[in-house]
Amino acid sequence: MADYPLKRLRRLRNNPIIRDMVRETEVNVKDLIYPLFAVPGSNIKKEIKSMPGVFHFSIDNLVKECRELAELGIPAVILFGVPEHKDEQASEAYNPNGIIQQAIRAIKSEVKNLLVITDVCLCEYTSHGHCGMLNGQEILNDETVSLLAKTAVSHAEAGADIIAPSDMMDGRVLAIRKSLDYKGFQNIPIMSYSAKYSSAYYGPFRDAANSAPAFGDRKSHQMDPANTNEAMQEVESDIAEGADIVMVKPAGPYLDVLYRVKQKFGMPTAAYQVSGEYAMIKAGAQLGWIDEERVVLESLTSIKRAGADMIITYFAKDFTNIQQKAGLK
Ligand SMILES: [Zn+2]
Repeated sequence: MADYPLKRLRRLRNNPIIRDMVRETEVNVKDLIYPLFAVPGSNIKKEIKSMPGVFHFSIDNLVKECRELAELGIPAVILFGVPEHKDEQASEAYNPNGIIQQAIRAIKSEVKNLLVITDVCLCEYTSHGHCGMLNGQEILNDETVSLLAKTAVSHAEAGADIIAPSDMMDGRVLAIRKSLDYKGFQNIPIMSYSAKYSSAYYGPFRDAANSAPAFGDRKSHQMDPANTNEAMQEVESDIAEGADIVMVKPAGPYLDVLYRVKQKFGMPTAAYQVSGEYAMIKAGAQLGWIDEERVVLESLTSIKRAGADMIITYFAKDFTNIQQKAGLK
């Protein structure tokens, strides 16, 4: 390898055309998945306070939003539901006429060229806000897993394209795979939230999904932010259980985990840029302390550079605006 003065790395940074040609990582709209929140009622589009630019939609408006997303070239959405009624059994999670099941049917029948991914967990549907069935204060694993599988099947029956379990119970990917196959949904992929950390960055989402636990926390199932070897084990077991896509969540603060997962397993890998990552960038921009567009692009590029093939992000629409503007310049 040549050394200075023969080698001058600045030569290839000299002008924007050269920089474009040697760029190693570029985020494409086709990499992005947009999260959406469905609520009961009609004609509702209500901004979530801690997530400016993100809304609760009733299904009629959700369909309109999805049409717009498809026109912008965004390939996929991931759906979260806020049900009318919550109970200890999370029965609205697997109700064939639940909020998510209705939303899936409406979007799939009215919008072409948009993948519908559904988040599968029980915390949005339980009266106590925990991700599973309880015995006292303990979250029961196996009882929860069977309800998750039932929920996944109800999403597939409504027309979901990809099932994304986010609960972090042990054995849930296998249970969901078996139930889907048994019902004839062998071709529906599973995108597993494999390394999901117990993170303070989820704060704004819990307002949005109205899913904060009534007592305690999620530390008995979500991962300790201090661990990465454990993340490798989580990913490995999800792959063994039949996950088609694995995920690291959150994204930005866990790029090292994302990098290791992609390097070690080479699987299609997703990363979730979560509500707190979004809210911090929006807040910094509103205060005039950072350049929002540049930070959005930089954060997404970093996530892709670390190994994500796809990014779940509340910035998906903003990204298309930024790109469009860049094209007009
Ligand atoms: Zn949950």
